[in-house]
Amino acid sequence: MANAKKLSVEVHKFGGASLADGAAFRRVVEIIAGRQGPRVAVVSAPAGVTDLLLGLAGRATAGETNLDGEVAGLNSRYLEILRSAAGRGQREAGDEIKQSMDELGRLLSSLAVLRELTPRTRDFIVSRGERLSARILAAALDAKGLRARYVDATEVVFTDGPYGGASPNLMMTDLTARKVLRPICASGVIPVVPGFIGAAPVEEDRRVRGVATLGRGGTDLTATLLGRALGAQEVSLWKDVPGLLTADPRVVPDARVIPQLHVREAAELAYFGAKVLHPRALIPVAGRSIPVFVRPFADATAAGTEISARRTLDRYPVKALSAVGAQALITVAGNGMLGVPGIAARTFEALHRQGISVSLISQSSSEQSICFSVPEAAARQARDKLADEFREQIARGEVDRIEARTAVATVAVVGIGMAGHPGIAARVFAALAESGINIVAIAQGSSELNISFVVDGKEAAAAQRAVHAAFQLSKIGGGAASRAVHTDVVLLGFGQIGRALAKILPRGGKPNGKPNGTSGGLRLVAAIDRGGFVFEPAGLPPRTIAGLIAAKEKGQPLADVPGGRPASPAQALSFLAEHALTDPILVDVTADESAPLLRQALSAGMDVVLANKRPISGPRDQSSALASAAERAGRRLLTEATVGAGLPIFDTHRKLVESGDRVLKIEGCLSGTLGFVLTEVDRGRSFSAALRKAMELGYTEPDPRDDLSGADVGRKALILGRLLGFAGEPGDVGVESLVPEDFRSLSPDEFLRRLDDLDADWAKRASAAKAKGRSLRYVASVTKDRIAVGLQAVDRSSPFFGLKGTDNQVAFTTVRYRKNPLVITGPGAGPAVTAAGVLNDMLRAGA
Ligand code: ADP
Ligand code: ASP
Ligand code: MG
Repeated sequence: MANAKKLSVEVHKFGGASLADGAAFRRVVEIIAGRQGPRVAVVSAPAGVTDLLLGLAGRATAGETNLDGEVAGLNSRYLEILRSAAGRGQREAGDEIKQSMDELGRLLSSLAVLRELTPRTRDFIVSRGERLSARILAAALDAKGLRARYVDATEVVFTDGPYGGASPNLMMTDLTARKVLRPICASGVIPVVPGFIGAAPVEEDRRVRGVATLGRGGTDLTATLLGRALGAQEVSLWKDVPGLLTADPRVVPDARVIPQLHVREAAELAYFGAKVLHPRALIPVAGRSIPVFVRPFADATAAGTEISARRTLDRYPVKALSAVGAQALITVAGNGMLGVPGIAARTFEALHRQGISVSLISQSSSEQSICFSVPEAAARQARDKLADEFREQIARGEVDRIEARTAVATVAVVGIGMAGHPGIAARVFAALAESGINIVAIAQGSSELNISFVVDGKEAAAAQRAVHAAFQLSKIGGGAASRAVHTDVVLLGFGQIGRALAKILPRGGKPNGKPNGTSGGLRLVAAIDRGGFVFEPAGLPPRTIAGLIAAKEKGQPLADVPGGRPASPAQALSFLAEHALTDPILVDVTADESAPLLRQALSAGMDVVLANKRPISGPRDQSSALASAAERAGRRLLTEATVGAGLPIFDTHRKLVESGDRVLKIEGCLSGTLGFVLTEVDRGRSFSAALRKAMELGYTEPDPRDDLSGADVGRKALILGRLLGFAGEPGDVGVESLVPEDFRSLSPDEFLRRLDDLDADWAKRASAAKAKGRSLRYVASVTKDRIAVGLQAVDRSSPFFGLKGTDNQVAFTTVRYRKNPLVITGPGAGPAVTAAGVLNDMLRAGA
């Protein structure tokens, strides 16, 4: 029996999210070529194609007739992928594409006439997404000399319907897939099967089977079905994530790859909303020894996640979280329910008849109410049907209310070890209580594999982060980071520095608005100013960013730009926090009192990067509250750009401390503006001319007295002081102002008019210093116990003597560098260098 001889096959499935273009298909070929032995490939439609096809079908049915352009666009996208993945000379696949797209055009035209879209037709329309993908892959494998053959899914996967979300017929699939695919594999050819679809059941009025889809994300299921039929050695699901993570990385930034989990755990997660797997994908392999791997498409050497029958990671009774949003919670309640048997059964029976799926049920112990969640879109229908069902009970007062609360989310906490660990639920609820999150309903799954709870939709993200942190899930498997493909950046403030930063941020999105999935790096998703914000979750495209910059330069607030929305910064932040951002960083480039906003951002899971000095140079309570908010949230608060623009001052301090040194004193020239003015005066220029020049070059604040007063340097000095443990308040910083008493209350114009009056004094100071071989510097001197900033005439022995222009300089005196302080010098002013400093921090936060 040659056929029955053990043939250890591997099934490799490539998800749509990874299949963006021809390069991605070439990568698929590379991955397949890298494996040994018999292989079966299963593919999704290229990214976005299923949605596009569904959208076109909908529009045609609504009567739109001129969709030719869109069809032509899809046609050329497929042809381009084919050309790039398989080279020229792929006539057959090219013809398939053309025929399929012609057919699509005709289907859409007839829908526009019929104005009716049956589930059967819809499935037939979308099926071409995966079918053409598989044609292209077969051609691309061939072109690389790997023998491959397209096998249509309707020949190997059989379903029992219904259209739109068909259940596989396991027995027929097992038999037929084995019969069709084994001989192909045995002859060294790689079958390439389109995912997501299968043969529909035979209908009375038709002799041939149609094509039915397995529900969104169904390619995962195709892969496990074939794996089961072939008794595969393993099934690999290649995706755009490094593996199955402890939570959705777009919601919980420090989600980690779970090295291994039990099939039942993974199945539970998939069923309760973890978008990474089709909800029923693991059913075919349950009870079989066929491990399923979730593997990163971007890195074929990474281990990914093994889903199998083993039990590991016993220290983690909870392994992962998932959530389903847009749910409604329906409550059926009444004092008389206690005595009436079967209310629950009738409730669910009624919903079942309507085809409404219930995902969480909790019955209060008094039996006076039952509540359960349904998709929000079905809430109304569910409530109406139940009111119908219980008409008599309502009339008799046994049931007195049937309510629907919309906009809730259910969160599932999953782990096979929960059964043996008492107190898990208590920990979950304590974590939520600590974060001030209100639980609307609770249910413990009968499997003891999961605890689910319902919260207001707005709190779903915070709830997941709180539970994730409570169970230390970011440490699972040794804490290997999930390596997000990018970091989302939110700019608070869109002034000079904000705009300079937006200009140098490495690429926003790709021109077509698609995030650049594999290249990594930072991506600007939102900008907030005092009155509004703009937000694009996939990354603001460079063109939009350029438009924003131009609009702001003309003085237009963000609320008024195209796509801008009016909101206070706090409102904007709460809005963003409800969205799934990836490793988000908030960058504060305002000069406002933003501390409360920053705390808000930290508790929403954002790292915070500051160029703004105020939040950490105000009252001591405020800056320590900020630091502890960061610590509580497990987020970073990075401040490099607050002192010395882009110079690595905090970085140096950290390295010194980490290497066991102790910093005794920090001295520095921390104002580019004052540095410039004083060097000019030293060189014999008049004070007024020097200051006017500085203004002209854009070095000063709008009112130059803000620089001359030393207030800005005082703030920087306080920030450095706090680094050394200085416990005082802003008032404890000794600041020598360079603005004479009687000039302080003048209007800015008047001040500038009378500037020349100051020249004589400055000339005197300069020549006195010169006579002693010294030069004038505005110096901050900081220790743990004392902070002073003021004018000094320094001699040659001082590192500051030779400092020029706007350069900043900082000298660390430490136990190791006691005689010769460690000196850092460089440009310390201007939007561009400050932006560079901020960027450095961002890269660190994103690392
Ligand atoms: P495919 O390309 O195979 O269809 P999907 O896009 O369906 O892949 O699944 C991957 C997506 O699932 C990721 O982009 C990720 O944001 C999301 N996701 C949700 N929960 C998880 C989780 N626990 N682990 C990994 N990814 C998750
Ligand atoms: N292309 C289908 C979808 O987008 C199936 C899949 O990708 O698994 O849902
Ligand atoms: Mg999917």
